[in-house]
Amino acid sequence: MSVHIARNLDDALEDLSGRADATILAGGTDLLVEINFGRQRPSHIIPIDRVEELKDLSRNGHVRMGALITYTRMLENDVGSPALVEAARTIGSPQIRNVATIGGNLGTCSPAGDTLPVLAALEATVVLKSKRGERRVAFADFMTGPKKSVRRPDEVIVAAEWDDAGVAQTYMFAATRNAMAISISGLALVIDRARRRVGVGLGSCGPTIIRASEAERFATGLLDEAGWEKPHRPSDAAAKKFGELAAAAAKPIDDVRGTVAYRRHVLAVMGTRALARVAAIP
Ligand SMILES: Cc1cc2nc3c(=O)[nH]c(=O)nc-3n(C[C@H](O)[C@H](O)[C@H](O)COP(=O)(O)OP(=O)(O)OC[C@H]3O[C@@H](n4cnc5c(N)ncnc54)[C@H](O)[C@@H]3O)c2cc1C
Repeated sequence: MSVHIARNLDDALEDLSGRADATILAGGTDLLVEINFGRQRPSHIIPIDRVEELKDLSRNGHVRMGALITYTRMLENDVGSPALVEAARTIGSPQIRNVATIGGNLGTCSPAGDTLPVLAALEATVVLKSKRGERRVAFADFMTGPKKSVRRPDEVIVAAEWDDAGVAQTYMFAATRNAMAISISGLALVIDRARRRVGVGLGSCGPTIIRASEAERFATGLLDEAGWEKPHRPSDAAAKKFGELAAAAAKPIDDVRGTVAYRRHVLAVMGTRALARVAAIP
């Protein structure tokens, strides 16, 4: 195994090009577990933690979050998405959050990745770069299966970007405890009042992150009636219906973390609570 330390983005792209068995190392919180358990044995490792170009964070109506932004930085800065901050707060422990990155969550692309339902609900774009050029892929097209994405072996995930959607958003998850546990199901809800758009992303309840389109349409109808500009308290029946539609979009399986029935149940409960809470945020 050889290690090629990248000092800038060009270095990383050069080291990746033509080496199908090269693996990027960011915070290492997923990759080192894989290596320690013998599930991955890369011939070339490219640590990118010194690449300053991947540490930028900008917000100017449009948010661009460099791939090396850690969860700790998300908690310390105005990253333009309260839901993403909520997701960051649930991840691992302080030690994990200090080094683990959004690029690594996208790189691993697990259906249980806590930032991913939020990126889906925000309709984020993943920016990829290789020596051949830059590619921008809608998150909806990025993830293709459990731990599978359209990223090519010579591409670095450079950033995630999204339009600033305001503060009416949340991320909720259910797990056996509040920290250091993989989520049984997660739900992100974004109500973008300015663009009159509702986004719902579901995690840990299918092979990919799932958009709950029927629930989105239902909430859009409620807001069309109530008015997008002002906070609104949906009726209990409407919030419950939204939760049921969100749960119906899931494609869960029974596994060690939860059953199909339990996953659908918690999604319905989270959906109900999320709409009641988020619709009331100005
Ligand atoms: C104790 C513990 C608790 C955890 N808790 C959670 C949790 O609650 N929620 C959650 O979602 N995750 C959790 N994780 C998983 C992990 O911390 C996250 O997925 C994290 O975001 C990975 O980021 P990283 O920088 O450490 O990635 P790494 O381990 O460095 O990389 C992960 C994968 O992505 C690739 N990669 C990394 N950066 C890039 C890039 N810029 N371009 C292309 N490919 C790249 C790597 O090659 C590798 O395949 C936990 C892990 C541990 C060990």
